Parts: sequence; C-alpha cells; structure tokens
Amino acid sequence: MPNALEQLLLPAECLLCHNLLDFAVSDHLVCDVCRYRWRPVVRPWCERCGQPGPHFGPCRLCREWPAPFLQARSAVWLDEGARQAAHTLKYGGLPRIADDLAAAIARLLAPPEPGAVLVPIPLGARRLRERGYNQSEHLARALGARWRLPVRADLVVRRRETTTQTALTPEARLANVAGAFEMRNAEVGTRNDRRQACSAFRVPSSAFVLVDDVFTTGATLAEAARALTRAGAVRITAVTFGRAAIPDFT
Ligand SMILES: [Zn+2]
Ligand SMILES: [Zn+2]
Repeated sequence: MPNALEQLLLPAECLLCHNLLDFAVSDHLVCDVCRYRWRPVVRPWCERCGQPGPHFGPCRLCREWPAPFLQARSAVWLDEGARQAAHTLKYGGLPRIADDLAAAIARLLAPPEPGAVLVPIPLGARRLRERGYNQSEHLARALGARWRLPVRADLVVRRRETTTQTALTPEARLANVAGAFEMRNAEVGTRNDRRQACSAFRVPSSAFVLVDDVFTTGATLAEAARALTRAGAVRITAVTFGRAAIPDFT
C-alpha cells in the first residue's frame, strides 16, 4: 500500500485506459476493467509447454526441453493492453506494475506446490545496469508475496547477453540462448562449469518455478532450466505473464 504522500505523487488514472482509478484500488496501476480484458490463455494446449492449439505428434516447442522441466504456463495472451502492461514493466521504468501482472497470474494459474522456490530469469549485467532493475525479479517478488513462496534471484546468472530473438525461428532461438545461464555458487564464488567438477554447485531438492514476463518459444526458460538441471534440480516448472503468438515458421 502506498502511503498518503506517495498516493499524491502517483498517477491516479489507469495506465492503459486513463480512466480515474478507484481510490480503494489505487495501489494498482491498471484498473480492474483493463485487467479483466486481458485474454486468458486457455486449453487446448500442449500439457507440457502450455502452447495452445491442436497438437499432432510431438510438440515442436518443448521436445528438446531437459527432462526435469515439466510444465510451463502463461496467464494471458500478449495482445493490446497486456502487451502494453508487459512493455511498461520491461521498459517503462515502472516496475511497480509487476503487482498488476502478478495479480493476473495468481487469478488465472494454479499456485505451485508448497515450498517451491521462485527463480526469476536473470538479466545480463549490462542490461541490468541500463534498465536499473530486472523486470522478471519484480514479477517473481510480487508473485512470491501472493503465493507466499520464497524467491531466489541469486541462483541463476546470465553469463552472456543474447541478441534480440524476435525474428528467429524456434530452432535458432535455442541456439541463440545455448549456454547463456549458469549457477552461482554463493559460498565459494565459483560456477558449475562442467569442466571443473570441483566447482559443482548443487541446488536444494525443492521444486523450482522459473518466472519470466513473456513466453515466446520457451527457449530462454528451457536454457535456464538446463542450468538448474545441471545443478541437480529434479522438478522445474515455469510461469509467465504473457504468451506471445509466434510466427508460423513451418
Ligand atoms: Zn483501465
Ligand atoms: Zn509443448
């Protein structure tokens, strides 16, 4: 809840439709009408990656995922208002909108198993400096507060920046993010580079829930899941706020 002073400084209108916000909900940036207009992702979908649409034979999106990566779900389609909200979280300098997005996720998706650990997809150091915050971490923290689950933003690190993936085919996206993530070994400051067996970093046996703002092909989530898998994770799922319609590459 913002305090009275902050209340005065905040825009009192919905970020999307510019209607005045009800005072009672003015800790949100988006009004109820706009949030309920976001289009939920619904069945039929691939039971594993949550990609909607009829599936014949193996799903192209998730067939290369590491075995412990069991399921990914997204709350809403990334169109119109939802796209603008996700864009505001990422580039708008308004990370507080993460709670509006988390509210939609918590309303539409089943909560993870008790004790699961939320792991935001990390940004590279340079992007983090430029943006000033990691949008996925804000989303994970807002979700953690709603689901009463711990957040570990320090577990996975991005060791190299990846180029913008928008124009890439699903296969090219996988190659683009290959090896992009590794685990941070907080105790000795080393990483679980497979060439250095002595630096192997094991994660606790909890279930992990990767959190990201948008799912497009799932390549980034799958690569982060690969880093967790190398560190011994056995149950990994993922949630995202938005699901982007991917161009048909077939
Ligand atoms: Zn509105
Ligand atoms: Zn799938």
